[in-house]
Amino acid sequence: MTTKQLSVASECAPFVKTGGLADVVGALGGVMGAHDVECRVLLPLYRQIAQLAEGAEELLDAGSLFGGPVRVLATRASGIDLLLIDAPHLYDRPGQIYLNENGLDWADNHLRFGLLGWLGAEIGRNGIAGWTPDVVHAHDWQAGLTPVYAQQSGGGAPCVLTIHNVAFQGIFPATQMGPLGLDPKGFTQDGFEYFGQVGFLKGGLMLADQITTVSPTYARELMTPEFGMGLEGVLAARKSRLAGILNGIDTATWDPGADPALAQTYSSRTLGRKAANKLAVLEHFGLEADSAAPLFSVISRLSDQKGLDLALLALPAALEKGARFVLLGSGSAELELGFRELARAFPDRVGVEIGFDEDLAHLIQAGADATLVPSRFEPCGLTQLCAMRYGTLPIVSVTGGLADTVIDANEAALAVNCATGFQFAPTSAAKLGDALDRAMAVYADRKVWQKLQRNAMKHPVGWDVSAARMAAIYQSLVKV
Ligand code: ADP
Repeated sequence: MTTKQLSVASECAPFVKTGGLADVVGALGGVMGAHDVECRVLLPLYRQIAQLAEGAEELLDAGSLFGGPVRVLATRASGIDLLLIDAPHLYDRPGQIYLNENGLDWADNHLRFGLLGWLGAEIGRNGIAGWTPDVVHAHDWQAGLTPVYAQQSGGGAPCVLTIHNVAFQGIFPATQMGPLGLDPKGFTQDGFEYFGQVGFLKGGLMLADQITTVSPTYARELMTPEFGMGLEGVLAARKSRLAGILNGIDTATWDPGADPALAQTYSSRTLGRKAANKLAVLEHFGLEADSAAPLFSVISRLSDQKGLDLALLALPAALEKGARFVLLGSGSAELELGFRELARAFPDRVGVEIGFDEDLAHLIQAGADATLVPSRFEPCGLTQLCAMRYGTLPIVSVTGGLADTVIDANEAALAVNCATGFQFAPTSAAKLGDALDRAMAVYADRKVWQKLQRNAMKHPVGWDVSAARMAAIYQSLVKV
């Protein structure tokens, strides 16, 4: 029997994306059909995606909610069924989806995402235009109030809540309970109260029927003070309802054999053709080509989480030995400056582009020899999965999904030919430096390097296994 599922999310690729959350929501929207799950995605109609409203059908006029008129529109785009929340007073504005033009959180983010959860609960309970989901799947703090509002209004479809990154929790002053329409009876330890404030994610975690996160290791880490960021107690208490299911990537979008952004497509059997992409990347960044020198890359948000300050410390030694390095990313001003300075110190060997550029990300994944993901914590990480698919070896810290997806090129793994990259622990500049040295040593033996590349390209990075697990979770929750 088909399971009807409603995803409730603040991002969905390819329409609006700031990180991996969008990729996952978009991928689930596209792949679950193969597992007998009919998905719809409830998404705010931000100004950035206003064009999606053209030709969309109005399914619900919800009247005035959270300070203005609200409608829900339905459309289908890129193979995904979307329910768009048209609430101009909350979403039709300049800036970014979470931040205003000054780079600060929108002051009314609690209302902007409160509405998202409110409508998720409403549709989960009463359906929309005759379509009622069997299960609601809320993502991250922005959708965290979904099960809270559901409980408040007397229930509805069971709710799965996925934590993509516990660092973002949606904590707001208790005075906002009124504007959010939250019943003060829920302002308890067992509800959405969080150290005297309203916790969107905390409330969701208490009341969701099932919690998932994006890798088995991160699921375990979340229950520890080091990684739980204050919610470790809540998660440990709900351990029996917490599952770690690895993210996948969209293997059609990320296909080195058919990627239009590449200078030259290739497969594991035609690895030699990858070199044309390396040349294209070096040329893009104006760097000197040297076939003996590995090209390292970073494609990332520039934030403390990603450990790129460690890369700044570790890279100079590798660059002195001839390595090339390119970075595509944006975020912290300090890190942007640090990488620009690195490029000034090594003008022929380091290229830096500040910004978000999907096509360039694809070309770099194809052209680099190895990619660095030295994260301090990493719920799953998608960059290393994309890299593996492109035969670009990941160099990663041993945490979260990075621990679960990369097989370190240690002696044992090399002996049985199963290695797919390089891991290092603890997450320090010195250990990252050692890993860069190891990678350079293996790179010098091109035969061994190619074996690793082929292993990486064979490693399953798609959604097959995880989508089946998610479908099984939905089915286990659906009342018969
Ligand atoms: P997070 O969600 O923490 O940012 P993930 O690795 O889970 O990290 O997902 C980030 C995704 O966004 C990856 O697919 C990555 O390649 C991509 N990405 C990150 N920064 C950029 C950028 N500046 N330009 C293009 N793609 C980027």
